[in-house]
Amino acid sequence: PPANICAVSIRVVPGRPYERGIPMKDRRMVRTWAEVNLDALAHNYRLLRGLAQKDKFLGLVKANAYGHGAVPIARKLQQLGADMLAVACLDEAIQLREGGIAIPILCLGQTPPELASELLEYSITQTVGDLETGEALSAAAAAARKTLNIHVKVDTGMGRLGFLWLDENSSPTNGEDWAFRQTDLYKLCCLPNLHIEGMFTHFANADGDEAYTETQLRRFLDLRRRMEQWNVCPEICHCAASAAVLNYPYTSMDMIRPGIALYGYCPAPGMDNPGLKPVMTVKSRISAVRTLPAGSCISYGRTAVLDRISQLAVLPIGYGDGYPRCLSNQMNVLIQGVPCLIVGRVCMDMCMVDVTGIPDIQAGDTAVIYGPGLTSRAASLAGTIPYELLCQLTPRVLRLYYEGGAVIS
Ligand SMILES: *Cc1c(COP(=O)(O)O)cnc(C)c1O
Repeated sequence: PPANICAVSIRVVPGRPYERGIPMKDRRMVRTWAEVNLDALAHNYRLLRGLAQKDKFLGLVKANAYGHGAVPIARKLQQLGADMLAVACLDEAIQLREGGIAIPILCLGQTPPELASELLEYSITQTVGDLETGEALSAAAAAARKTLNIHVKVDTGMGRLGFLWLDENSSPTNGEDWAFRQTDLYKLCCLPNLHIEGMFTHFANADGDEAYTETQLRRFLDLRRRMEQWNVCPEICHCAASAAVLNYPYTSMDMIRPGIALYGYCPAPGMDNPGLKPVMTVKSRISAVRTLPAGSCISYGRTAVLDRISQLAVLPIGYGDGYPRCLSNQMNVLIQGVPCLIVGRVCMDMCMVDVTGIPDIQAGDTAVIYGPGLTSRAASLAGTIPYELLCQLTPRVLRLYYEGGAVIS
């Protein structure tokens, strides 16, 4: 190509760095990308460990590590000394093993018994929350002459998966162990070729309802006591996801199980942030800066009409990158630290922001889309929580990993 045309077809103004602070040779940062700060992850990891003061730590890396990239995040957690990782399904677990992760991995979702051989082959710990699954996995492990490591899940009030805690009215318990011996949980404990390493439950309302959380904890302890009577004593009992670690650390038992807090966010709005740092910053590079006259209509549906002559920056980010369309005309991005409002509808691949009055701004400059302060605000404007915005960033948004201030991959 002619010497004056840059390989990525972005105009470079002579005498001025193409980009402030980031080496321009990296064509990965041409459009929209996510900077994943592994030092912030380490900071959050240590902070959460300190809050819980427990021996064991399980890091949640399901859903591509909440959008941050499962393998690099898992590697860092392994390096930091996490005892265990958890994923949603077998395929996520295998992806980690193939990425070199050696520490225990707990699969939280159901795995069909036909795939039990893969659980054994890849040394994945499986959650079991009902007798049928337990029986099928036990039979499959027996056929392979192996023992499958499992964590028993009990439903103490989430109403999702797990052996149900039964109250005295709806069950024959009345504190009688003979009655409890009729239950599925007891039958599970008798199955061969399963090693019950752990036992856990999940809190439904640890982001604010302490009484309900305590009720769930009491039910959990009740079931644990039963199992001890049957000489089944899981080594690792765990209940606390991020909300419980932050609000009710006394529920931590043997191991904590945080996800969102590890990535720097509180699980619900209005909670005190103990100093968690967002791990991901999403940035986008301005495609063009254009001056438009008053009266101009902006984007699909002409939902915005300029009431004055305006300078607009076109950003190459849209709902095709996972940026919610419902943020149209409401959300800001940061350019040179200045909040700039989205004007008109967010398109699939682009959106426009108002940069009127910001001096010295040009194509090639960067805008911060998600980062401290921005993600939570975007989530609340979109009527959701940061979890969803992080998870819905699409693969088109390249993830770059930083450690000690430099890109490592
Ligand atoms: C996702 C998940 C967690 C983590 O929840 P956060 O709110 O992200 O901390 C913990 N336990 C289970 C069973 C989960 O599914």
